[in-house]
Amino acid sequence: MASQEYYDILGVSKDASQEEIKRAYRKLAHSYHPDKSTGDAEKFKKINSAYQVLSNPEKRAQYDRFGSTFEGSSGAQGAGGFDFSGFDFGGFSGARQAGGGFGGFEDMFGDFFGGGFSGSREDRGRDIQIDIEMNFTDTTKEFPTKVFVERRVLCDVCFGSGGEKGSKEITCSTCGGSGKVRQRVRTILGTVEQIAVCDSCKGKGKKYEKKCSHCGGDGRIRTKEEISLTIPAGIDNGQTISLSGKGDMGDGGASAGNLYVTVHIRPDKRFTRQGLDIISQESITLSQALLGDSIQVETVEGFVKMKIPAGTKSGEIFRIKQKGMPDIQGRSRGHHLVKIVIDIPSRLSSEQKRLAKHLRELGL
Ligand SMILES: [Zn+2]
Ligand SMILES: [Zn+2]
Repeated sequence: MASQEYYDILGVSKDASQEEIKRAYRKLAHSYHPDKSTGDAEKFKKINSAYQVLSNPEKRAQYDRFGSTFEGSSGAQGAGGFDFSGFDFGGFSGARQAGGGFGGFEDMFGDFFGGGFSGSREDRGRDIQIDIEMNFTDTTKEFPTKVFVERRVLCDVCFGSGGEKGSKEITCSTCGGSGKVRQRVRTILGTVEQIAVCDSCKGKGKKYEKKCSHCGGDGRIRTKEEISLTIPAGIDNGQTISLSGKGDMGDGGASAGNLYVTVHIRPDKRFTRQGLDIISQESITLSQALLGDSIQVETVEGFVKMKIPAGTKSGEIFRIKQKGMPDIQGRSRGHHLVKIVIDIPSRLSSEQKRLAKHLRELGL
């Protein structure tokens, strides 16, 4: 499932150095910053997502391996929204001082009012977010699963052209064939005229006389698709997996958006998770606590024998090494922690009562 997409977004090769990635990012972020006339919030967001993954060696390795990354629900990859705090604004001034690709404030100002042609607008497809539920015990190993996603894909009748078979191409009447239209855009300093891509023909200048009856001329159709994916071992509640290119196909043949799968883990009666450790509770009898014993403890890998030392106190925690949750990066593993509860019976037999009294006499 390894993917190339983030590399394509930044326009770098798969073996690009951190320095190359940073340079490509700065250049693109500068062009597509939403505050600018050449800005494109959607594209800016993608550039940022790609950079956040590829600039982080760990995330990059994970992406190279799985073609996806795993983030907490509050992370920048979370489907809920885009976290601007992760954006490296400092990079701008840094690049300027270093004599980088652009000339600072005047340059940005110039671009802002230049009102130039906004170029090839890429209407990247919409991202799709879905939720899945998993059992706790399935999260300790790689979990292959399938999801059904309603997404827009290429129309299989017109193959994206939007024209009915045999229909003639005609000049677009909206833009007169230029593919561009004049548009009034409001900026912080008033309204300026800008040239934008014609919506009617998507910048092609030509249209089909008759629209494809299968997709209504859109070039895309809605379909319900089964997508296979592997949830990495160690996934935590609320984490999101991103599958690039599995969102809606873009307008006019533009690339597809991403699919974000947020994992919700059903609570388990036996186990709770704390970081990479798994915690369970075991009840022992008073005599086991006083004299010690060996008990069977259920872990996510089955039952394990554990020694209870003599003199164990209620609430004491014992550790079974390496039976906890695997780290999602696959580097380490947590432990299984057993919390001991001494089971004090609410009723005693006469013999038990006699012995308890005897213990009292002995100072226990
Ligand atoms: Zn079609
Ligand atoms: Zn047009």
